[in-house]
Amino acid sequence: MTTEEENKTARRVSVSQSRLRINEDGTEGVLLGRKCRNCGETFFGQPRFCLKCTSADLAPVDLGREGEITTYTIVRQAPPGWQGDVPYLLATAKVAEGPSITSEVVDCAEDRLKVDMSVELTMRVGGTDKEGNEIVVYKWRPKSA
Ligand SMILES: [Zn+2]
Repeated sequence: MTTEEENKTARRVSVSQSRLRINEDGTEGVLLGRKCRNCGETFFGQPRFCLKCTSADLAPVDLGREGEITTYTIVRQAPPGWQGDVPYLLATAKVAEGPSITSEVVDCAEDRLKVDMSVELTMRVGGTDKEGNEIVVYKWRPKSA
């Protein structure tokens, strides 16, 4: 192994290029969406066509960092491949732009979780890929006062 290879440090990469843009060290992230120029509906991710009016005229938008929980569950049986703690809290939060985004809620006691609770985006390392890069995932956490 050459010195250059030994010094190569693991990069941090987004779990999904179409849903999450991260900064260089993976500590900050922005959720990505598309807004329909025809009907005004906004979607999480990068749909090719508007899921409401089927227009293909969609513009990329950055979604806000905050949302309100519309529904949640406590997962006691994790899906295959889950690398986090069990049980864990899974919630869907609606952001100001419209889309609802489902992810784990971290830094939150089970009995504190409520519908209408305000949450904010936080970045966590959720595992490593085949090249040894750290995969940055988006999570919700209770909004700091
Ligand atoms: Zn539309």
